[in-house]
Amino acid sequence: MKPMNERYKILFESVEIGPKTAKNRFYQVPHAMGSGNDMPNTRAAQRGIKAEGGWGVVNTGYCSIHPSSDDRPLPFARLWSEKDIASHVPMVEAVHEHDALAGIEFFHGGAYAANRHTRMPPISPSGIQQKVGELMDMHLTAPKVMDKKDIKDLIQWHLIATERAIKAGFDIIYCYAGMGFLPYHFLHPTFNNRSDEYGGSLENRSRLMRELITEMKTVAGDRAAIAVRMSTDELLTFASESSESEAHEFFEINGELPDLWDIKMSSWFKECPSGRFAESGHMEPYNSFVKKLTSKPVVGVGWFTSPDVMAKQINEGILDFVGAARASIADPFLPNKLKEGREDDIRECIGCNICASCYNQGIPVRCTQNPSMGEEWRRGWHPERIKPKSSEDSILVIGGGPAGLEATLSLARRGYSVAIADSEKELGGRINMESKLPGMSSYKRVIDYRLNQINQLDNIDVYLDNTLSSDDVLELGFDHVVTATGSSWQPTIMDEKSAPVFVTKTDTIFTPEDILNGCDLKSPVIIFDFDYYYMGGLLAEHIRDLGHEVTIITPFEKVSPWSFNSNEIVEIQSRLMEKDIKVLTEHRILDVMDSSLKIINTAINKESIIDRGSLVLVGYRAQNDSLYDSLISDEEALKTSGIKSVQNIGDSNAPGAVVHAVFAGHLYANTFDQLNDPSNEDFKLEYPVIQ
Ligand code: ADP
Ligand code: SF4
Repeated sequence: MKPMNERYKILFESVEIGPKTAKNRFYQVPHAMGSGNDMPNTRAAQRGIKAEGGWGVVNTGYCSIHPSSDDRPLPFARLWSEKDIASHVPMVEAVHEHDALAGIEFFHGGAYAANRHTRMPPISPSGIQQKVGELMDMHLTAPKVMDKKDIKDLIQWHLIATERAIKAGFDIIYCYAGMGFLPYHFLHPTFNNRSDEYGGSLENRSRLMRELITEMKTVAGDRAAIAVRMSTDELLTFASESSESEAHEFFEINGELPDLWDIKMSSWFKECPSGRFAESGHMEPYNSFVKKLTSKPVVGVGWFTSPDVMAKQINEGILDFVGAARASIADPFLPNKLKEGREDDIRECIGCNICASCYNQGIPVRCTQNPSMGEEWRRGWHPERIKPKSSEDSILVIGGGPAGLEATLSLARRGYSVAIADSEKELGGRINMESKLPGMSSYKRVIDYRLNQINQLDNIDVYLDNTLSSDDVLELGFDHVVTATGSSWQPTIMDEKSAPVFVTKTDTIFTPEDILNGCDLKSPVIIFDFDYYYMGGLLAEHIRDLGHEVTIITPFEKVSPWSFNSNEIVEIQSRLMEKDIKVLTEHRILDVMDSSLKIINTAINKESIIDRGSLVLVGYRAQNDSLYDSLISDEEALKTSGIKSVQNIGDSNAPGAVVHAVFAGHLYANTFDQLNDPSNEDFKLEYPVIQ
């Protein structure tokens, strides 16, 4: 084992959090993992793996303390009754097993809580609903104005939940005053216009927080630390008579109360932007002032992916703990790798926000870089270990994109002898092109990590600039063959049922590959985009950056509508506006003429003609599966050549996002030698106890 690099030693210092001591400064902040109380085993394995990988503190996601804060159908955790305690115990035990502290983030959503299941009226300081245009946050009940009894009840719910959290074994208990939730709305002058002692001055508006922290600390004693999670960005903009801002004044009044401060932003979109739209350390303006106003430890996030940026936070006195959600998802073993002098082996987060998209879709977390995330319990996958080979068979992987590379690496880690071939002169597949688009360079890490690992193994042969035919494959003498030959964008528009309609390609009609290969374009460039994800918007930006006039037409209400899930949709629309790209939503192309298009406004069925130079069609990808089809079409030839199995994975099987390709490669490497077809395996579920 190599010694730890001196410059990371500071990250391994222990830090006191009230009555508890964290063994190092690696702090997995509370973040949603898509597994609430209904999936206690999944949750325990997801969080436990981070403790095993060296994170000193591991928290739950948001945990509602009372039925008046019900967030269904989103996957929140719950501590509403004594019966909920048991569901948390497996996670606490999994975290304690590796000497980490287990934290729980209490949550009361206040006016945000839709209470769709419990049907209780939402509650708030002054009856003001913060309206946002997101479906899950829209609900039809205005919140009730809390009277004094409601305030007493809210404090009491926190105290009862504190006792329950301690029974479950948690070391750190959060009071949550961020993101428009209830204690935050008390602090916020827009949402709190009360005239009693809980409204008016900041001293009064923070009274509820003081009471909550003080009373929770009394209940906890030395059995648990009390942390506060707090949004500062808006308070920093509010003027204060006695201090630099209301945020400063808040910490001057309350800075010493809890055992730890965890600083965040007032909206998830702002706090967790994708790597396309944020730099590492982007939260510094909102958290760096806090340490000057308190002696208590401060934790903050900000898409820290590199250990040097992490160490800088501590060295420069910005934070006491390096807070992370995504870095701990992409590489749960980041701390241990640093400790072992293996920083080059870190699987660096690419900032795609696929993990965040899982919460928005109500499913256990998935990660582009780390295919085992969310599968620890269900499939028994581990980010660093994989079962050994079951034979001396050799495997040929055809295609070096994310699917082929992940399959190659994981097969080789199992001990198999593997060869990977690609038509191109370098490995990387689609990533090599897509990572050149604006803001996408971090996607290259998917390839860089795998190539670096592959280069350390001596049971992998790489054949570049090698387009294999089925005859070539039959002659090569491998026992197993897997095709990961990708997909191709097709020149299609779409009909009224959203089905693709093929258009003949000309020297002015292009697909994304043509653009990425640098074809000649003529203004005005029209992009017709009926893909759900990022490609249309990215190409619009790219082509505009080349100096062309660009219009993007989409049948949807917004460009890249799926990107709501990855917290990117707002930034995508802003970027198009900033770059002066014309956007025509709810339109479809009816006919493609030489220098014009017939289009239809699908909302009002109105047809019109627009001029065009080049036309770029983004919407439909087809599998490059001809090699696979040709191989499996001749069973006799396979038998004669000694090939025992042929499988098709990734985009050449079902075109998807990069996360799907990496997962497909990992699944293949784990299951190709199982007798059962992996698609038919028993899907392991957590079953409810029938009462
Ligand atoms: P995925 O996302 O499924 O990994 P990609 O499109 O990123 O797919 O990568 C597919 C790779 O397969 C490309 O790099 C392409 O050059 C390679 N490829 C396709 N057909 C062949 C072939 N017949 N022989 C070798 N390589 C191929
Ligand atoms: Fe990072 Fe993407 Fe993994 Fe999330 S899904 S942790 S953003 S690589």
